[in-house]
Amino acid sequence: MKRVYLDHNATTPVEPEVLDAMLPYLAGDFGNASSIHSFGQRARAAVETAREQVATLIGARPQEIIFTSGGTESDNHAIFGVVEAAAGVAATSGAKQTAAASGAKENAAASGAKENAATSGAEDKPKHVITSAIEHEAVLNACQALEKRGVGVTYLPVDHAGLIDLGVLRNTLSLHPETVLLTIMHANNELGTVQPLEQIGRIAAEADVYFHTDAVQSAGKLGIDVNAMRLDLLSLSGHKLYAPKGSGALYIRGGTRLRQFLYGGHHQRGFRPGTENVPGIVGLGKAAEIARKSLAEDAKRIAALRDTLEQGMLARVPYARINAEGTPRTPNTANITFSGIEGEALVIALDLKGLACSTGAACSSGAVEPSHVLTAIGLPPEAARATLRFSLGRHTTAQDIDFALSVVPAAVEQLRELSPTYRKPVAAR
Ligand code: PLP
Repeated sequence: MKRVYLDHNATTPVEPEVLDAMLPYLAGDFGNASSIHSFGQRARAAVETAREQVATLIGARPQEIIFTSGGTESDNHAIFGVVEAAAGVAATSGAKQTAAASGAKENAAASGAKENAATSGAEDKPKHVITSAIEHEAVLNACQALEKRGVGVTYLPVDHAGLIDLGVLRNTLSLHPETVLLTIMHANNELGTVQPLEQIGRIAAEADVYFHTDAVQSAGKLGIDVNAMRLDLLSLSGHKLYAPKGSGALYIRGGTRLRQFLYGGHHQRGFRPGTENVPGIVGLGKAAEIARKSLAEDAKRIAALRDTLEQGMLARVPYARINAEGTPRTPNTANITFSGIEGEALVIALDLKGLACSTGAACSSGAVEPSHVLTAIGLPPEAARATLRFSLGRHTTAQDIDFALSVVPAAVEQLRELSPTYRKPVAAR
């Protein structure tokens, strides 16, 4: 059976060139990058090349990149790391000792910071974090965990397209001078909506708060410049970027005070101990290099295919609705509501016909709750449940889009026929 994959926001295939770059490090060049013999030196050289490749993709310096296991770890490291280095977290978290005793000083010094929380007198001050209502769970659940430890968190609302309001952000910052971190995702995984990071970065800089972005869905799809965006921290993930799962990176601007997240050896200057995943890191570096070179071309071609898909759906499926249309979006993401159907039933029906797509975020598939992103943009729960995400990739073809347009309308119609609720709105028109 022909199979078409339109779920690249869930994960991407490893690019053949990426696999080729990785294979030697799974075979003959298997050395530990910390070893001083020639096996180790070859692995070290490969890791440092990858660090440069990832840094170049986002306009950073290589020494500002640490490799992680993926987006979730990078997000958690950035959020807990900043807040706990700023101290003042309730003693139950054990954070009182963190900034002074657990390596923040060492890490801050390594990245150029002049002082740490222990010397800044910040231990007893209340702490506050600002994020948005549509972040990925890797950020939202980290923020909720911080709340349980006594940290205040504001979840900024978004408009019908998923954009935060910069006026509300400014007000929240002036209402909460104790804010230590602003964490706002670059591109949303369900809608593709892109936040204006340059403007947000200016606001964060004026307020003198650390600025982190989850760029898991934008890295390799959109241009990123950590300096123009005034970012202090940025998370990215290999498997969304045609590199293997289990690889990722965190950008940490030199001078950022960050409590270390894992304890162990002195790998990656103590910021991220643990023997480096050399093949994964090499794959991520190669994927970053390929993405940087093909980004502009890919974006143009993929956006055209995405537009064909959306216009085709609107023309063929009555009452289909494109969410976040007309807003800056990643080129590859289409989020479409087909009222009167259950999204999960449609995903299964389409999979049986050979088309892979998803309802909202893959990690919340199977959850009974409608997507928090779609409800945040104002969709009623039944509309949120009737919504599908089609996410295109570098190798998506015009034939793949034709295939989607040939199977989705019939599947929607079939499910609507079975739906006890769908006839009512149609009859009322
Ligand atoms: N952030 C966003 C926006 C994501 O879409 C995802 C994965 O879907 C993650 C974070 C988590 O990344 P990882 O799967 O590498 O842990």
